Amino acid sequence: MAFKRFAAAYRSFFFPTPLKPPFLHICQAGDPVLRSQAKPVSHELVNTPEIQQIISQMRRVMKTYDSVGLSAPQIGIPLRILALEFSPRRKEEFSPEVYSARGMSTLPYTIIINPQMEILDYKKVVFPESCESVRGFSALVPRYEAVKLTGIDNKGESVVMQSRGWIARIIQHEMDHLEGKLFVDSMDPKSFQNDAWHRINVHQGRIQLQFYKK
Ligand SMILES: [Zn+2]
Repeated sequence: MAFKRFAAAYRSFFFPTPLKPPFLHICQAGDPVLRSQAKPVSHELVNTPEIQQIISQMRRVMKTYDSVGLSAPQIGIPLRILALEFSPRRKEEFSPEVYSARGMSTLPYTIIINPQMEILDYKKVVFPESCESVRGFSALVPRYEAVKLTGIDNKGESVVMQSRGWIARIIQHEMDHLEGKLFVDSMDPKSFQNDAWHRINVHQGRIQLQFYKK
């Protein structure tokens, strides 16, 4: 018995059981889950503990990583669930010029299940974009100016939202995740950059890129 317990402890120390999704970290480019087409959630399953747990985990990851958008595939779940938020305190992160040029506006925390997007304004706007699943990089990405999003919320009630500018951009970025697309698929390739390139020179390469946040 004692040996069995010891063997089990030894195994779990050296060969820990892999964590199962939904993860508390964000999956990175290369993970097949980010290239798969996410599946719709059956309406009758929205209120089950499994789906509710995925949704609350998404909220937790959004907060930890301070994200403005997150899709379920990014935490390892290939389902059509999005979380969006652009809080008023973001205003402090950007200069007033950038905030207005990029058409930024606030959006309270929103969960949309099985979202469907309609383009309301086909004018394309080009701004820098990044993604927690392509951590450390950014690029210029053209996006439509205005979109309409319909779906259901975390209680199964229908949601309709019309958005312009930066919120419309976040929505298009997150919708792409559900189709297995990343911003690198639609970026201007020459604008692709490592966001730490300058600091890397200043610190002679001694820069660490973390994939976890406390
Ligand atoms: Zn992303």
